Amino acid sequence: MKLIAGNWKMFKGPEATRAFCEAFEAPDGAEAVLCPPFVSLPAAVERGHTIFAQNVHWADEGAFTGEVSAPMLLELGVRGAIVGHSERRQYFGETDETVARRVAAALGHGLRVIACVGETLEERESGQMDLVLRLQVEAIADAAGTQEGLVIAYEPVWAIGTGQMATPDQAREAHTFIKNLLDVPVLYGGSAKPENAEELLSQESVDGALVGGASLDVESFTALCRIAASL
Ligand code: PEP
Repeated sequence: MKLIAGNWKMFKGPEATRAFCEAFEAPDGAEAVLCPPFVSLPAAVERGHTIFAQNVHWADEGAFTGEVSAPMLLELGVRGAIVGHSERRQYFGETDETVARRVAAALGHGLRVIACVGETLEERESGQMDLVLRLQVEAIADAAGTQEGLVIAYEPVWAIGTGQMATPDQAREAHTFIKNLLDVPVLYGGSAKPENAEELLSQESVDGALVGGASLDVESFTALCRIAASL
């Protein structure tokens, strides 16, 4: 069964979250996950959908202003977290080391994790893509060990929010590379929308999608879930 996860980033407060969750019905045949901002998690959980946070800290509690821990998320009924999104790496100093610590703690507490990896355009064009992906994936794999609940999202940075989705061949190549390093499901992320998702999602190496922009609209997110369910 393919997994479609909606990363809402810093969009939708509790009221907009409630409205989306009331209107959204996950189709049979695909797994749908919603990832609202922290403040909207309680409103989302109330409606019975599968809800992940967009980040999680490695400590259970402590002097870490602005962070949220795995036990806190579990107490709310949140089932997992995105870790290491490229926006966290780019704007908030997230490194392979901090990503690894978050992954280890989250899985250790029984949260599922969508750990994000992906190369920049410069890295791709200068032939460093394999090295970058290898380092990112190996840090996550070492942190996860034999723990269950890990999914990787391959999100080429140049495809996120740009409208320029990777071609099916580019995605297959990256997914196969990642799967050779680590045997877990691999989602694709980067400008996926109902109009372009079918060819990509129908590939065997693509286990689903992490969706930003197109997950904010209940109709387009539902359409993506239906496409995944039909494959
Ligand atoms: C993302 O941010 O994870 C993402 C895939 O964004 P978008 O679908 O908007 O490119």
